Amino acid sequence: MAPSTLEDLIASGVRGQRVFVRADLNVPLSGDGIGDDTRIRASLPTLRRLGAAGARIVLASHLGRPKGEAKANLSLHPVARRLAELLGRPVAFAPDCVGAEVEAAVQALGDGEFLMLENLRYHAGEEKNDSEFARQLARLADVYVNDAFGTSHRAHASTVGMVEHVGRVAAGDLLRSELEHLDVILHPERPLLCLLGGAKVSDKLAVLEALAPHADVLAIGGAMAYTFLAARGEPTGESLVEADRVDEARRVVAAAEAAGRKLLLPVDHVIAQRLEAAVPTRVEKSIPDGWMGLDIGPETAAIYAAEARNAKTVLWNGPMGVFEIDAFAKGTEIVATGVAESAANSVVGGGDSLAAINQLSLGDKIGHLSTGGGASLEYVQGLQLPGVAALERGR
Ligand code: AMP
Repeated sequence: MAPSTLEDLIASGVRGQRVFVRADLNVPLSGDGIGDDTRIRASLPTLRRLGAAGARIVLASHLGRPKGEAKANLSLHPVARRLAELLGRPVAFAPDCVGAEVEAAVQALGDGEFLMLENLRYHAGEEKNDSEFARQLARLADVYVNDAFGTSHRAHASTVGMVEHVGRVAAGDLLRSELEHLDVILHPERPLLCLLGGAKVSDKLAVLEALAPHADVLAIGGAMAYTFLAARGEPTGESLVEADRVDEARRVVAAAEAAGRKLLLPVDHVIAQRLEAAVPTRVEKSIPDGWMGLDIGPETAAIYAAEARNAKTVLWNGPMGVFEIDAFAKGTEIVATGVAESAANSVVGGGDSLAAINQLSLGDKIGHLSTGGGASLEYVQGLQLPGVAALERGR
């Protein structure tokens, strides 16, 4: 059963109610400011609708990894300031997320007003899903709304533990929209192309195993590809190979073959002797000793981009090379352009893939930019997200 929506909630009345919104405002920081405010903007629709309906909004998020300690450089205060600018409304800020002072600040809220709590992860109880911490959070809420899609694959106090202690619960607009767009990958118009890149096979093994028999074409790039090439007995030089994952890579290849699916690996590579900007590079089909593959080569990029143009549905997560360095960014750029130019329904997730799309100003040509890379990869495996399951139980 799908969780209750914001429509259901607002229709049943939220005026004067304390609505606790768990959002994912875990934005990248740069210096003492916010590097990219996409996640704040993505949370606006839910907040605006609740504000207009007269709710008293208590907004909570984590930021970075303070590991249970108050770390001034991971305060959500700058996020509250940016949110206030974007909303065009004041956003009060509480110096903590639980306790008497916070409870008093929540009581002082008027209808349609906003209070942002300090970083949930200043308390170790958040990530441990500690039941007492969850109860303390629940004391701030008459109603609970989860809009934190990017954290919904984690069973934490603010995404799971507190939910059973609040009488009325619902999914926010962002969470609902993410699930609807990702359902397209679970039930795709075919052919479905899945493009997976990034650093480690070990991080993406579960999703590779799930997608190999499901995708019509699974195209692999990034450092991950070298473990697959090693599994095929090809030379990989000094490239990042996870020797202890070679058997699993073979299993993924076998699963794709058994299902009659296509699994594509790079046929050429941009190589260098060191991972540095301004080192000499070459394009080779085979990686010699002493050299490492740092991007897919032009032929591979053209093949992957052509697959994107041919597909009806595309999922892309993870860069095709070390795209932070210009000399190794071309493969990711060509693939990004192919996905954007394709008429396919496309879903792109993962911070690096989104950064590549944004750098090239291709965002408006993508069907859906997911705000949760990890959560979206769990969902497309057909796994139930703990944060969503908690909302369904609370219905
Ligand atoms: P992930 O977080 O797993 O999506 O991996 C992203 C990282 O993978 C980026 O920082 C890339 O620089 C890195 N990466 C991609 N391709 C390669 C490669 N061929 N060798 C080393 N690192 C890579």
